[in-house]
Amino acid sequence: MIPLSEAKSIIEIQIFKLGTESVPLSDVGNRILAQDIVATFPSPQFDNSAMDGFAVRSEDTYGASKENPITLNMAGISSAGMPSEVSLGQGECIQCMTGAKIPVGADSIIMVEDSSGFSDSNSVQIMLEAFPGKHIRKMGEEIKEGETLIDKGTLITPSEIGTCATFGYDILNVSKKPKVAIFGTGDELIEPGINLEEGEIYNSNLYVFAELVKKAGGNVAMSNVIKDDKDSLRTFLSEALKTCNVIISSGGVSMGKYDFVRDVFMELGVEEHFWKVAQKPGKPLFFGTGNSTLIFGLPGNPVSAYIGFMEWVWPVLKLMMGQKEVKKLTGILRKPFPREKVKYRFLFGEAWLENGQLVCQPSTKVGSHMLTSSLKANCILGTKEGDRPLQPGQEIVVNILPWRTIE
Ligand code: AMP
Ligand code: MG
Repeated sequence: MIPLSEAKSIIEIQIFKLGTESVPLSDVGNRILAQDIVATFPSPQFDNSAMDGFAVRSEDTYGASKENPITLNMAGISSAGMPSEVSLGQGECIQCMTGAKIPVGADSIIMVEDSSGFSDSNSVQIMLEAFPGKHIRKMGEEIKEGETLIDKGTLITPSEIGTCATFGYDILNVSKKPKVAIFGTGDELIEPGINLEEGEIYNSNLYVFAELVKKAGGNVAMSNVIKDDKDSLRTFLSEALKTCNVIISSGGVSMGKYDFVRDVFMELGVEEHFWKVAQKPGKPLFFGTGNSTLIFGLPGNPVSAYIGFMEWVWPVLKLMMGQKEVKKLTGILRKPFPREKVKYRFLFGEAWLENGQLVCQPSTKVGSHMLTSSLKANCILGTKEGDRPLQPGQEIVVNILPWRTIE
């Protein structure tokens, strides 16, 4: 049994980066950017109007009010996509719509609400004084040409997609998705939908794994529940070792009579880096490597498997895609948290804000077979070993589940 920190360092050395591929902008959601996105032009690209109204020379409007409107002559119209070529002379104005280029000579926009309105007349009454720059979006005020907009390694969300579109990027270079094989072992495992016989249970872990792989940005390339028999295991694993970047098992790596996942890995030439980490749940954690495959043997108990995935596999999938590591938070306990004498302790938990402070409590169900302890949870709480439980008011590490919110 090795300490958590040592296990993390061992894995770190083995992580390799996946290649990259070009993907159309419409399909890049949840991928990891493999290039910097740079502004190829300033934004806005030209001075333009923030309002529907009239482009004016502000000095022509001095003294204008509702009671004393000033009349200006209409010299043209500038709309978004159809700029006016007219340059504004003294006493003139140009109808100028939102997003339209500011005509030469104008230094301000009067909102249509502060005028006698749009019409076909060749003059308009202005009822408010303008001043230079009013309602004008200045060229480059948001972004300068050449500025880095988004760094390589960023998770692509609607914000990144919108920004890329704004600057004309139609295809992005992103990291390839890790190809992942997931499998469960156990003669007792039955698929949901089929009637249970005595002693059987439904396979839940592979459904959790599949969803987690997808959420992390990977592709489930192979998935199977394998009976506790070496031949089927060998067939599945030798194929997975040839074709997948990551293999994740649920179960079969404990001390039971039929736990021979590890044996089969060894037979197939997998190098074992460690087996058993000082943690609860999930002590019998196996980590090995094939030629170009990382292998995680997670325990079968549903909570151990789920927490094991989030603490060990999720960050690795992210790093393989080049995503910058997300820092864990620290919260203040509101309820006691059980500690182990020699093991790191994880539990699902709830975290929320009180007066701007992150506070939390562990799930009341603590068994590693109690998957419903994850239902209300928005985080995994974790603490180092210690003699006594942590007490309310003490700090604990909070790993927020990325798809949950903090209320
Ligand atoms: P094992 O690690 O194979 O000894 O399994 C430990 C416990 O987890 C046993 O109670 C198994 O029945 C249960 N288990 C194993 N695999 C799964 C699975 N895919 N879904 C739900 N429970 C499982
Ligand atoms: Mg088993």
